[in-house]
Amino acid sequence: MGEGTLKDGIAAGRLTPEQYAANFGDLHPPLDRHEAFVEADRCYFCYDAPCQNACPTSIDIPLFIREILSDNPLGAAETIFEQNILGGMCARVCPTEQLCEEACVREAAEGKPVRIGLLQRYATDAAMSTDTQFFTRGAPTGKRVAIVGAGPAGLACAHRLSMHGHDVTIFDGREKSGGLNEYGIASYKTPGGFAQAEVDYVTAIGGISIEHGKLLGEHFSLASLAQDFDAVFLGLGLGGVNALRADGEDADGVDNAIDFIADLRQAGDVGTLPVGRRVVVIGGGMTAVDAAVQSKLLGADEVTMVYRRGKAQMNASEFEQDLAASKGVTIRHWLAPRRVLTADGKVTGIELGYMALDAGGSLKPTGELTTIACDQVLTAIGQTLATDGEGVTLAGGKIEVDEEGRTSMAKVWAGGDCATGGDDLTVTAVAEGRDAAEGINRYLMG
Ligand SMILES: Cc1cc2nc3c(=O)[nH]c(=O)nc-3n(C[C@H](O)[C@H](O)[C@H](O)COP(=O)(O)OP(=O)(O)OC[C@H]3O[C@@H](n4cnc5c(N)ncnc54)[C@H](O)[C@@H]3O)c2cc1C
Ligand code: SF4
Repeated sequence: MGEGTLKDGIAAGRLTPEQYAANFGDLHPPLDRHEAFVEADRCYFCYDAPCQNACPTSIDIPLFIREILSDNPLGAAETIFEQNILGGMCARVCPTEQLCEEACVREAAEGKPVRIGLLQRYATDAAMSTDTQFFTRGAPTGKRVAIVGAGPAGLACAHRLSMHGHDVTIFDGREKSGGLNEYGIASYKTPGGFAQAEVDYVTAIGGISIEHGKLLGEHFSLASLAQDFDAVFLGLGLGGVNALRADGEDADGVDNAIDFIADLRQAGDVGTLPVGRRVVVIGGGMTAVDAAVQSKLLGADEVTMVYRRGKAQMNASEFEQDLAASKGVTIRHWLAPRRVLTADGKVTGIELGYMALDAGGSLKPTGELTTIACDQVLTAIGQTLATDGEGVTLAGGKIEVDEEGRTSMAKVWAGGDCATGGDDLTVTAVAEGRDAAEGINRYLMG
């Protein structure tokens, strides 16, 4: 019957308002003008820059850094937005340590890359905070394109189509636009309503209308869209979640991490959100880290992430794993859930089995068991496509697309997390949405 972080069970209000405010502040505070100059001055402006080659949207990084250095942040923003209209969000959420900053020659030479993400944020913030727009809508073509999903893929596709003069209608099942930018990304990466501000910035080009509460498969079919519009883009993301498939998974206190994070992102006051005193998060990816870290920031006393393979196989980057550890999350490897332990229908712990690779490299239980006492279990063991594809061919649980984003159905393109080939990152979704728009434009104007 403790207080604060030691309060038993699943409870809200574990911390003071000041602690919540500090915990959910900006993870990487922005650079000021002087700091941006100093950082930009570290760049070698490499020819055939490896950082640019590592960026899925191919932003001309040395050019925008040079523009910052010549005190032209708006020019830098234009360079970024030409390739990536969601460059503001990507500056905040990209795993730069695995992309541009990993490739930076200064990382190779001295283990300290140019902080490209923060410089990108400096430039894009300068444009967005003054609502400086760089692109105008093309002359109307009279062509109409339907987009399903107002996430990064759908928004990037819509913006590029509008630049080409096509009329775009986006349908989204949720009440707000932004996809996982609004409902999924950790709050400390995008505080201050940035996701909505970015949607407004992107759609300000005009020619894009968004209809919320409209679900493909419920309110309309893919066939009807293909009939009513000149082309269709599917940017549905992965709306389903994998089940735990362990005894006791229906107990009070077992929740999926995606819903937990969505509630957190939509909460006006995080102090009203209940969290366990002892939380176990199942999974080894970015979602598991975000759920674990945010449980801790909400005031959970003990948070343990368990993953069935080793550290090297975790999908969460080294940076994310370090972040979790720095917030007090314990990460345990080679453990798979077997049974949720309950009393009176509530979670009291979880039984886990040790795993190991056999001689053939297959993951097998060793037969040894262990138990972790907890009052909340969050599952983050992968997401799935929440549709049967409505007639488009699927491959490996995703919508099959060619290198231009075309699906098996005439007039229908797809991109982002729902489509084959990507790596389930915001920046990749943006690149695929943008490139599909170019393919759609060629088709419509051909
Ligand atoms: C918890 C979490 C944290 C993440 N953190 C990061 C991060 O830090 N950095 C990073 O780069 N990536 C991160 N990602 C991945 C990133 O969010 C996704 O790769 C990206 O959002 C994919 O964009 P998308 O447009 O394909 O799909 P989504 O963002 O999922 O958007 C899909 C949209 O389609 C709508 N929709 C779905 N089904 C239907 C339907 N049937 N009818 C109508 N509308 C529908 C949804 O409401 C949603 O708005 C994270 C993902 C999760 C789950
Ligand atoms: S690799 Fe590093 S030093 Fe070279 S251009 Fe890119 S940011 Fe600058």
